[in-house]
Amino acid sequence: MAKKKLNKVRTLMSEQDAQERIHNFNEVALGYTKEQALLEASRCIQCKNQPCVAGCPVEVAIPDFIALIAEERFEDALSKVKETNVLPAICGRVCPQETQCEEVCAMGRVKGSSPVAIGRLERFVADWGMAHEDEAPVEDEQDIDTKVSKKKKVAIIGAGPAGLTCAGELAKFGYDVTIFEALHKTGGVLVYGIPEFRLPKEIVRKEISMLTDLGVKIKVNTIIGKLFTVDDLREMEFEAFFAGVGAGLPAFLNVPGMEYNGVLSANEYLTRVNLMKAYDSDYDTPVDKGQRVAVLGGGNVAMDSARTALRLGAEKSMIVYRRSEKELPARHEEYEHAVEEGVEFHLLRNPTEILGDEDGFVKGMEVIKMELGELDDSGRRRPIARPGTEYVLDTDMVIVAIGARANPVMTKNTPGLKLNQWNYIEVDANMQTSIPDIFAGGDIVTGAATVISAMGAGRKAAENMHKYLRGELEPPIEDEE
Ligand code: FAD
Ligand code: SF4
Repeated sequence: MAKKKLNKVRTLMSEQDAQERIHNFNEVALGYTKEQALLEASRCIQCKNQPCVAGCPVEVAIPDFIALIAEERFEDALSKVKETNVLPAICGRVCPQETQCEEVCAMGRVKGSSPVAIGRLERFVADWGMAHEDEAPVEDEQDIDTKVSKKKKVAIIGAGPAGLTCAGELAKFGYDVTIFEALHKTGGVLVYGIPEFRLPKEIVRKEISMLTDLGVKIKVNTIIGKLFTVDDLREMEFEAFFAGVGAGLPAFLNVPGMEYNGVLSANEYLTRVNLMKAYDSDYDTPVDKGQRVAVLGGGNVAMDSARTALRLGAEKSMIVYRRSEKELPARHEEYEHAVEEGVEFHLLRNPTEILGDEDGFVKGMEVIKMELGELDDSGRRRPIARPGTEYVLDTDMVIVAIGARANPVMTKNTPGLKLNQWNYIEVDANMQTSIPDIFAGGDIVTGAATVISAMGAGRKAAENMHKYLRGELEPPIEDEE
C-alpha cells in the first residue's frame, strides 16, 4: 500500500488584525472554518501508541475525534471529546496545548513539521456543536449508574473548572449534585479572570448550561464558610463534598509605595473589567484607566492585564518582568499576541519603589536591572539585582500580577481540614482530604495552575467520591505502608 504523504504545514487560523483588535474586546482568534479543520485533521497520522492522549490531563481520545472530523462526522467527534472533557470550547481556546498534547504529538517530531493543532480542532468541533445545537442537538453521554440512588446528595464548593467538571461527572454517575458558588456568576477564573477577547463569556455560559442540562443545580451568591458551613450542608443531608475554591487571593510586592492610588492587583482589575463589564458603557462599573500602565509579572495574568489596558485606551502598556523572554511563564501565543498589539516588554527589570505625587497618585516606578544566575528550585535561572542600575519608569498605573494565593474562606472555617504551609488543602492520591467526606482539587490544592489540570483533578475526585459513596474507596497505596 502506498505510504500517506505527510503534510508538515500546520493550518493557520484567522485572527482579528492587531491594530483593529486593540480597540475592541471581541475575540482575537477566529477559529477554523470547516475546510481548514478538514485540512488540519488530515495531518494526523493516527499513531498506534497515542502519545497525545497521555499528554492530555483528561485523556481526551484525540486520534479518534480527529479521525471523525476527517470523515466530516462532527457530531460524533464532539461526543467523543465529551466522553472525558465537559468543557471543550473553553479548553480548545485556553489550554496550554503546546506544553501538553501538542508537545508530544508525533507530527511535531518529524523534521520540518509542526504538531497537529489539536486545540484548534477541539475548539472547531465544540463551536460546531454550539452552532448546530438546534438542528442536531449533541447528547452528552449519560453513563448513569443505576446502582446510585438519586437521593444521594453531593455538594460542590466553587464553580470554577475543577468544581464544574466534578459536578458534571457526578451527575453522569447519577447523583443529586448542587454547586455552591460565592460570586453571582459561575465559571471561576473563566468569567472573572480570562478576558472576553480570549474567552467570550457567552461560550462559558453555553458550556456551563450543558451541565445544568445534566441535572446539576447551581446556587450562586453562596459563600461556604460564611453563609453556610460544611456542617450546615451535612445537616441538609449532603453526603460528600468537593472543594474547588481556587487560588484567587492576590499576592502583593513588598516595596515602598504600594499604597498609592493607581496600584492595584490584576485580580481586582480583571474582575472589574470582565465580571463587572467595566469596558462596556452600558455598565457603570468604575475602573482605573491609566495612560502609561506598568504590569508586574510575566504570566498569562500579566499578559491579560497589559492587553486589557490597551483596549481600555492606555497610550502605553508595559510588562515589567524580572527574568528574560525565555522564562516568561505565559503561553507563547499570548506573548506573541501581546507583542503584535504593541505591549512593551521591560525584561530583566524589577521594581524597587512606586513613586507617588503629593495627592497620593502613582507618578512613576523605580526599577533595577537584573541578571540571571544559577538555576533555582523552580528549575529557572535565579534573577539577581545589579546594584547601581536603578532608574525611573514613567507610569501612572501599576498592576500587580505576580501570583495568587489560596482562597481562605472555606478552608479556614472548616475545622480539621488539613492545609499545607501555604494554606492549600492537602489531599491524598484519591483527592481525599483529612476529612473523609471532603475531597478537593484544582488551584486550591496545587496553587495557581491551568484550566485543564483543574478539570483533571475534578474528574479524578468525582471517580473517587463515587467509590466513597458506595463504600468502595480503598486507601491509596502510600497510605497503607
Ligand atoms: P477557580 O477558577 O479559581 O474557581 C474557584 C471558584 O470557587 C470561584 O468561582 C470562586 O468564586 C469560588 N469560591 C471560592 N471560595 C468559595 C467559597 N468559600 N464558597 C463558594 N465558592 C467559592 N489557565 C489556562 O489553562 N490557560 C489560560 O490561558 C489561563 N489564563 C489565566 C488568566 C488569568 C487572568 C487567571 C487568573 C488565570 C488563568 N489561568 C489559565 C489559570 C486557570 O484559570 C486556573 O488554573 C483555573 O481556573 C483553576 O480552576 P479552579 O476550579 O481550581 O479555581
Ligand atoms: Fe495524531 Fe499527533 Fe496524536 Fe499522533 S500524536 S495520533 S499525529 S494528534
